[in-house]
Amino acid sequence: MQSYKIAAIPADGIGPEVIAAGLQALEALERREGTFKLDITHFDWGSDYYRRNGAMMPADGIERLKAFDAIFFGAVGAPDVPDHVTLWGLRLPICQGFDQYANVRPTKILPGIVSPLAGVKPGDLDWVIVRENSEGEYSGHGGRAHRGLPEEVGTEVAIFTRVGVTRIMRYAFKLAQSRPRKFLTVVTKSNAQRHGMVMWDEIAAEVAREFPDVTWDKMLVDAMTVRMTLKPQSLDTIVATNLHADILSDLAGALAGSLGVAPTGNIDPERRFPSMFEPIHGSAFDITGKGIANPVATFWTAAQMLEHLGQPNAAKRLMHAVETVTGSGVTTPDVGGTATTRQVTDAVCEAIRGSNIVV
Ligand code: NAD
Ligand code: MN
Repeated sequence: MQSYKIAAIPADGIGPEVIAAGLQALEALERREGTFKLDITHFDWGSDYYRRNGAMMPADGIERLKAFDAIFFGAVGAPDVPDHVTLWGLRLPICQGFDQYANVRPTKILPGIVSPLAGVKPGDLDWVIVRENSEGEYSGHGGRAHRGLPEEVGTEVAIFTRVGVTRIMRYAFKLAQSRPRKFLTVVTKSNAQRHGMVMWDEIAAEVAREFPDVTWDKMLVDAMTVRMTLKPQSLDTIVATNLHADILSDLAGALAGSLGVAPTGNIDPERRFPSMFEPIHGSAFDITGKGIANPVATFWTAAQMLEHLGQPNAAKRLMHAVETVTGSGVTTPDVGGTATTRQVTDAVCEAIRGSNIVV
């Protein structure tokens, strides 16, 4: 039997609530499939750890994670710790330390969940956003000078490299090629940002020649928000920079019903290091401890993790169970239901146990 070592890092806010739900579903799947075993190690890193130790994780944290096959991550963010501390103290060092350069964000309207877009039904919105996850404005370059003085300056330098852009473009074209429509939209802002973004456009055209069966087009990011909202059917696979795709994928999550259903995989496609799977949403401290966090994003990202680990059947069974449950109306308040996290989780586990689909 195949066995996988998983590092669970629930971290802050609703992170522990949704990760507990995700682990419960994974355990039900492990029993139902009988073909794999997950060896879970829990890490208490995050804002509580920071309050005790002055850092979000131990100095050898990245080194310790290296031994795992995948990381199952909740969310960071606390009302009393600056956001840049929690983000740069835990989540970004993992993404960067393991060169998880492809951030893959599938979005679709699940059965029983209503899009805020009038008349848009399941099937009308079925996208995968590929977010470049190692460069751009999030590369950590920049600085502040003359702090507190009238002439203070702050810079956030967007770094784009030929290696970095080429590899994410190849990843996106390949992903587009694997989907039925074989269609990719490359998003930039190359009218205003005339260096790195023009390089994106040029590299897109070069890489496109390697994928003659993929149709592609280009969009400026501002116009892209309009197209996503007014013509969701016209999109399929999307690739954009770290910053642009961060923003577009929150919009995508909202258009698909809620941030509470949107998953993400931070992938090292070369498999040199563990990849990390997490819901897109943050720690949501407005609903922490109320028992109403939507666990669907975490189930979906658990399915992404199983797919990545080489258990596509378990991934399909999990998503089928999730869709059965949302379709039956058992959903949390963020998508209009009245169920609790526990009720949705129990229903998904029950659907997994009773699942007879041929996967
Ligand atoms: P958020 O995603 O935590 O919440 C935005 C809104 O969506 C809130 O009203 C919240 O209640 C709701 N929501 C989010 N997830 C939900 C779920 N599973 N079920 C039901 N409702 C859900 O974003 P925010 O409020 O801007 O940020 C809160 C904290 O999270 C901040 O500290 C921020 O820095 C952090 N954050 C972390 C990550 C991450 O860890 N990857 C991502 C985004 C924000
Ligand atoms: Mn974000």
